[in-house]
Amino acid sequence: NHLKKYYPITGGVFGKTVGTVKAVDDVSFSVKTGETLGLVGESGCGKSTTGRSVMRLIEPTEGEVLFAGKAVTSLDQQELRKLRRDMQIVFQDPFASLNPRHNVESILEEPLIVHGIGSASERKKRVLEMLEVVGLTSYHAKRYPHQFSGGQRQRIGIARALMVNPKLVVLDEPVSALDVSIQSQVLNLLQDLQKEFGLTYLFIAHDLSVVRHISDRVGVMYLGRIVELADKDALYSNPLHPYSQALLSAVPNPDPDIKRERIILQGDVPSPANPPNGCTFHTRCSHVKEICRSIRPTFRDAGNGHFVACHLYGE
Ligand code: SF4
Ligand code: MG
Repeated sequence: NHLKKYYPITGGVFGKTVGTVKAVDDVSFSVKTGETLGLVGESGCGKSTTGRSVMRLIEPTEGEVLFAGKAVTSLDQQELRKLRRDMQIVFQDPFASLNPRHNVESILEEPLIVHGIGSASERKKRVLEMLEVVGLTSYHAKRYPHQFSGGQRQRIGIARALMVNPKLVVLDEPVSALDVSIQSQVLNLLQDLQKEFGLTYLFIAHDLSVVRHISDRVGVMYLGRIVELADKDALYSNPLHPYSQALLSAVPNPDPDIKRERIILQGDVPSPANPPNGCTFHTRCSHVKEICRSIRPTFRDAGNGHFVACHLYGE
């Protein structure tokens, strides 16, 4: 609820604060049990910062995160550690997130040790089970991260996240570093695991086709804000926000009945250290009106849970 993450910009010899980067600037959304909510946007739009703030890997500047009714943002470190069993994260680059000096067995065992789960033999058994669940075998347990392909490493990253039986998994660009041919295998695995274990996903990506494949609902982010949020089908067949329309016009549509003209956005994304007033998209929007330059559009329901922040709708 109203999540913000601001970073001070320091400069000069005395390291004085000379500005603020508004990486996440008043973001609100909910993820329903068992669903996949996709967050999509260009790099630097704040989607990863949002995902990490939800987990409190980053302390949000303002706002509140609730998990099953509990305020994650006001837990002390000990309570937070307990809650981490329920909330796990998978990172984009499995190579960077796996300790190169540990073999797979010890990488997968570690979360169990941290949370004090099981005896040594129970933990080993669980490691072997989980390797199989993600499509690897006991043969892989004694091997090291560099001995695996990118796709296999991401399977290990996923296995590690699932070791403690989490309820929510934040997936931060989990297939972006993989070859296209491997991406769909990992996405299918994630979907199978979701069904098997009743997982809830917050799925972060910049690739609209990937998000479409896996999500139930999708939020589109621009400059630290969610500008549109809707059921996947509603968003992809009828995007309301001019930014979403431009983003979607650039991806091939599998439905031949939907013909879209390619919308080319003018200019670059403005700096989050100096975002435009009013609607932050107004410097690039072809529908811009006077009001857009000074007044920030509120996030409102345009009907059937299709939320949009744009003056074209109902203001
Ligand atoms: Fe464009 Fe105005 Fe809508 Fe912003 S509020 S997207 S500038 S029409
Ligand atoms: Mg990112």
